Amino acid sequence: VGSEDAAYLVSLIRSVPGFPKEGIIFRDFMPVLADPRGLDILLRALEAALPVPANSFDAVAGLESRGFLFGPSLAHHLGKGFIAIRKAGKLPPETIGESYDLEYGTASVEIETSAVKPGERVLIVDDLIATGGTAKAGADLIEKAGGAIAGFSFVMGLEGLDGLDKLGDVPTSTLISMP
Ligand code: AMP
Repeated sequence: VGSEDAAYLVSLIRSVPGFPKEGIIFRDFMPVLADPRGLDILLRALEAALPVPANSFDAVAGLESRGFLFGPSLAHHLGKGFIAIRKAGKLPPETIGESYDLEYGTASVEIETSAVKPGERVLIVDDLIATGGTAKAGADLIEKAGGAIAGFSFVMGLEGLDGLDKLGDVPTSTLISMP
């Protein structure tokens, strides 16, 4: 996308200091989705910035909840299917899960046991990478289910948290870097 489109996309991101708690600036990309031009730019930018060519993965997997909001559109446009990586406790059995550490306590992500075909190459998407814990857990889960991680695409990345380091050697792309 051109620089005018890129600037327009960035202008639609709403920053909310102090949410969900003090010291955090919440980066809200819902206004991008609500704006027809913004949504179009977002999807074109994600496709243009794919971390690996589209023919090197078979499916797109989104992290709940905001990875669900654009992952299926991206997958459809690329001629792929979409896999939903859910928060724990939402799916009926049989599921497999992966736990990860939060600042306080732990969280888990889950998928249906048969959600990933053996050897399927998966691109993981989410709105934002901070510490990388959520994306890493999602990737570990896809691998546990028999898939392979082709790459990660994020709309936003938080600077200074080294989130991408947690993801190892896998190709990643981040559209917008945020302090
Ligand atoms: P992390 O596991 O630390 O990389 O956190 C990433 C997950 O938490 C993503 O699913 C984001 O949607 C959400 N998240 C973390 N920090 C923020 C933030 N500052 N603004 C919006 N969402 C965030």
